[in-house]
Amino acid sequence: MNSSLAPYAVTPHNTRGRQITEAAPVGRSEFQRDRDRIIHSAAFRRLEYKTQVFVNHEGDLFRTRLTHSLEVAQIGRSIARNLHLNEDLVEAITLAHDLGHTPFGHAGQDTLNTCMKDHGGFEHNLQSLRVVDVLEERYADFDGLNLCYETREGILKHVAKKNIAKLGEIGARFLNHQSPSLEAQLANHADEIAYNNHDIDDGLRSGLITQEQLSDITIFSRHFAQVKERYPVLSGRRLIYEIIRRMINTLATDLTQQSIRNIENANLHSLSDVHKSSPIITFSDKIRQEQQVLKKFLRDNLYNHYRVVRMSNKAQHTIERLFNAFSTNTRLLPQKYQIKYQSEQYQSIADYIAGMTDRYAIKEYKRLFAIGES
Ligand code: MG
Repeated sequence: MNSSLAPYAVTPHNTRGRQITEAAPVGRSEFQRDRDRIIHSAAFRRLEYKTQVFVNHEGDLFRTRLTHSLEVAQIGRSIARNLHLNEDLVEAITLAHDLGHTPFGHAGQDTLNTCMKDHGGFEHNLQSLRVVDVLEERYADFDGLNLCYETREGILKHVAKKNIAKLGEIGARFLNHQSPSLEAQLANHADEIAYNNHDIDDGLRSGLITQEQLSDITIFSRHFAQVKERYPVLSGRRLIYEIIRRMINTLATDLTQQSIRNIENANLHSLSDVHKSSPIITFSDKIRQEQQVLKKFLRDNLYNHYRVVRMSNKAQHTIERLFNAFSTNTRLLPQKYQIKYQSEQYQSIADYIAGMTDRYAIKEYKRLFAIGES
């Protein structure tokens, strides 16, 4: 596979390696090993029961963070192959990108951030890195998963300025204004392609948005017209699927073609050229604008739909009350977190809450506040 990699791709030879040196893997690449460690982690299994937009128990067909992550990985790998980038690295980053998410989606993350505002705040990207660097307890020789630098770099998509200093090497690129690898840039766009499209799908399935509303959105109506031309009588779920699969294809193709143009224009020849360049993996202006319109539509009509807002409100209430109870009386914490609290204080409470699945958080809430539950 390595011979087909572009000169500016990350390879097992130009990797900055692991924090703790390990013998090279046998029968798989360094980044395949990273992917395998991620898949076998406890945090990865918990993604099955964490909200993407719809709370896990609302329906069996909606995306969870696990199926979202799998879709991101699929899209990312396909594009990586076409761009001769490191597919294994893209797969590792995409499968790990949401490991630090709290229960209840963005509402959970925002609430925990507010609860933690006097204690360093809470960022899900940083928490994803914390999961793979520190929190997973699987190996005899180290905490975390001891992943390669480039996998960790891709997981840490953003970080607040105030938190950069404590990150050391992995935070340096934010201070030096350096771009991450093309694989990391790609993983980020694959995430966006996946959620915009599956949120349309889930939004329509739930009935919170309608096909009529979407007819005003160019990127949707253009693909709707294409499907109708070929299959005039098609309707229902198959019509939606035919539209969405075309949209994903259009976005993936546009991202690939525009990025190839950007690579040529920037005259990239090595990984260090990538770090010095402005972002290379981008959509064309036209598609980027269409995506922005779609995002605004989803924000106004789906994420801010009163039924989603009600769910977010419950999530906020649940997380706030859990956090307040634990921080007021740390003896309510499970033993393990009481011990951690002695050295890490509020961070240990944030770790405990962020690690919860939706249903675990609901159960824990009942255990703490409902008489008769234990
Ligand atoms: Mg995501």
